[in-house]
Amino acid sequence: MRLQGKRAFITAAGQGIGRAIAEGYLREGATVIATDLNAGLMDGLGCETAALDVTDKAAVTAAVEAAAPDVLVNCAGFVHAGPLLDATDDEFDFAIALNVRSQFHAMQAALPGMIARGGGAIVNIASVASSIVAAPNRCIYGMSKAAVIGLTKSVAVDYVKQGIRVNCICPGTVDSPSLHDRLRAMGDYEEARKAFEARQPMGRIGTAEEIAHLAIYLGSDESAFTTGQAHVIDGGWAAA
Ligand code: NAD
Repeated sequence: MRLQGKRAFITAAGQGIGRAIAEGYLREGATVIATDLNAGLMDGLGCETAALDVTDKAAVTAAVEAAAPDVLVNCAGFVHAGPLLDATDDEFDFAIALNVRSQFHAMQAALPGMIARGGGAIVNIASVASSIVAAPNRCIYGMSKAAVIGLTKSVAVDYVKQGIRVNCICPGTVDSPSLHDRLRAMGDYEEARKAFEARQPMGRIGTAEEIAHLAIYLGSDESAFTTGQAHVIDGGWAAA
């Protein structure tokens, strides 16, 4: 049991990568506090669950402080689609609020307790579509996930001496409910799926469970010598 004795707080645990991380953490013995905007999605998870909108600073602060986690997984995020000239200020602000400021607030709430208890691990979900790879029609998304990488590195450096490790995960395209929505929104679902598969040299889309394996490693003491890193897991996309 690689996470035995650890309390883990997870956002967006209702479906996709967050759900797989919650299930993986439970399998590895963690006490999981799973949260999502839509509480009903977490039925059957088998742990403490709570509705949480990560764009609500007061709610995030209260929930994270009450949970007193050893491991914080910031998974909530939204993919904005479209090029620069079609993008609006509201879309820009929403992406920052959901993808970046939420992690900023959750880390601010988690860190004092982690420091007082002698350490902790934070796992932020970024994306390979960020400062690592430019994906078409992802200017706002890429900007927001690049910010996650920068935030992760900076917080890691500032608190490394207090036993805090902060890493982020940069997935390539991963099968999740919202991925299917994005493929449908592109018009020809099958063509869009083929294009998404083709850009990853392994020729396939990843699974949420594959991302969860990395999140388990980064939340556990196995990764004790790793902090401030953007861990790419993308079927070879960034290497191509
Ligand atoms: P998803 O998009 O299918 O599900 C997202 C979950 O977030 C849902 O359960 C939803 O209810 C929840 N959510 C939405 N708004 C929220 C809010 N304001 N507060 C709390 N929860 C909220 O899941 P996914 O595709 O696995 O994406 C999860 C994370 O992984 C995101 O940060 C995403 O950017 C990132 N990511 C996904 C992929 C991919 O290809 N799927 C690739 C790279 C990174």
